[in-house]
Amino acid sequence: MTTITTPRIEINLGKIAHNAKSLKELYASKGIDVIGVTKVVCAAPNIADVLVKSGISILADSRLANIRKMRQAGTQAQFLLLRIPSLSQAESVVKYADMSLNSELSVIKRLSKFAMEMMTTHKVILMVDLGDLREGVMPVDVEHTVKEILELQGIEMIGLGTNLACLGGIKPDAEKMTKLSAITGDIEAKFGLTLGLISGGNSANYSWFNSTEDVGRINNLRLGESIFLGCEPLYRRPIPGLFTDAFTLVTEVIESKTKPSAPQGDVCQDAFGNTPEFADIGNIHRIIVGIGEQDVAAKAIKPRVNAEIIGASSDHLLLHSHNYIEVGKEIEFDINYSALLRLSISPYVKKVYI
Ligand SMILES: *Cc1c(COP(=O)(O)O)cnc(C)c1O
Repeated sequence: MTTITTPRIEINLGKIAHNAKSLKELYASKGIDVIGVTKVVCAAPNIADVLVKSGISILADSRLANIRKMRQAGTQAQFLLLRIPSLSQAESVVKYADMSLNSELSVIKRLSKFAMEMMTTHKVILMVDLGDLREGVMPVDVEHTVKEILELQGIEMIGLGTNLACLGGIKPDAEKMTKLSAITGDIEAKFGLTLGLISGGNSANYSWFNSTEDVGRINNLRLGESIFLGCEPLYRRPIPGLFTDAFTLVTEVIESKTKPSAPQGDVCQDAFGNTPEFADIGNIHRIIVGIGEQDVAAKAIKPRVNAEIIGASSDHLLLHSHNYIEVGKEIEFDINYSALLRLSISPYVKKVYI
């Protein structure tokens, strides 16, 4: 019996450091710099510091509150706001973020106004939508948008960016990256400037990077998942040489009994409005661990013992275990990106750094 509370995530900072350094080195081999994305771990300052110590000098987060948190904790980095800022947030964005991804002129004008008032410069990366259809201006609109941005005071247009493989699940391939490089070249020629930062995407750019000799003008990627979970997000394959187990979810068995596999009685809706179906395979060993859908989606985690997840309600997760496991024993799980996202924010899940 252990006395450390459950449920908890054990966070191996050494493994995160190894992944961050390895990816930084890998991408540097073709001239690409890495920005560390902290949103999936809610910008935990311990973890942010590990990224900085691993040689990453720009940290990015979607939420300004997370950037403020890292600043207040004294994290020594430059900060990029990932989610395009809202109009109402513009003042705080200039105050707390060194740079931001943008796609709306009205917002950039606001940023300019506050930057002038604060007598500072806010750096802007204009997002170009290459087909994933989340944020960004369409390629035909880049030129006139840049023209307007260049007229604004207090704003430094430092480059272009794109984001793929998020909402539309569109693969960042050679065609998309060549297109971003071409747009960069056109803009530079048109306005007689040099764009210093061309951010081609996120962890999903891994297979493009590996299969291309010439990365064109792309000199930056924004990485979260591959640093923390050691895999690429297109097919969720492990990246060679990286740790995929830097995070471990640890739960505790609170009931352990032999019971039927199929529920008995009239089947109606379950806790979440689904009508469950269970195959009758006779009596099985059923284990309950003390975690539930409020903390993590059952389908986003995988037990490291010989057992399958039967299902979960808000606070109970059921396993069919092929071995007897007694009450009080801990069961470890591998977690995926969406599990890490939700577990990070849950106040019911303790974070333990090792
Ligand atoms: C979350 C996010 C990233 C990081 O994505 P990963 O797949 O975790 O590497 C990069 N860019 C933007 C705009 C994001 O929102």
